[in-house]
Amino acid sequence: MLTAISCVFPMLCEMCGKQVTFCKKVMIEGVLLDVCPECAKFGNEAKKAPAKEETAPRPVITQRLEERERRGKPRDVLETMEREDLVEDYASRIRNARSKTGMTQKDLAMKINEKLTVLNKVEAGDLHPDEKLIAKLEKELGIVLKEKVATVQVAKATGARTLTLADVIKIQKR
Ligand SMILES: [Zn+2]
Repeated sequence: MLTAISCVFPMLCEMCGKQVTFCKKVMIEGVLLDVCPECAKFGNEAKKAPAKEETAPRPVITQRLEERERRGKPRDVLETMEREDLVEDYASRIRNARSKTGMTQKDLAMKINEKLTVLNKVEAGDLHPDEKLIAKLEKELGIVLKEKVATVQVAKATGARTLTLADVIKIQKR
């Protein structure tokens, strides 16, 4: 069942990463691995004594497989950036702030020199105000319509294509 095979030195245990002079090929979690005698306990061999081995070793196996995974892959480089985005509830923020002032949509539209139809759509949530309009509304109503959003830029450590800011925004919009 368990086959000891000859290995090329230096040999690394595929589970714990230790350098070993002797390794075994065992089936662990459905994966055939070259492991050190210690780790081999978690493989086929362990199943010979199911009574005491069945429950406890599982987290250890998972942990070691994760460690192996981490070692195997170069780490991705994550860069966090911040940018400002229109808040999701911009429509109600504008509507509420305007009603507090007692202005009608028409009043406000005239005051900020904007078309009534535009303001109407914005307050209905049907139209995203552009930067200029956002600024005018924030100033006139004393509200905040933008929030900082953290975005994560992924640069593969493998040297694969680095995502550009435009890509990140595209991904976020999906
Ligand atoms: Zn090992």
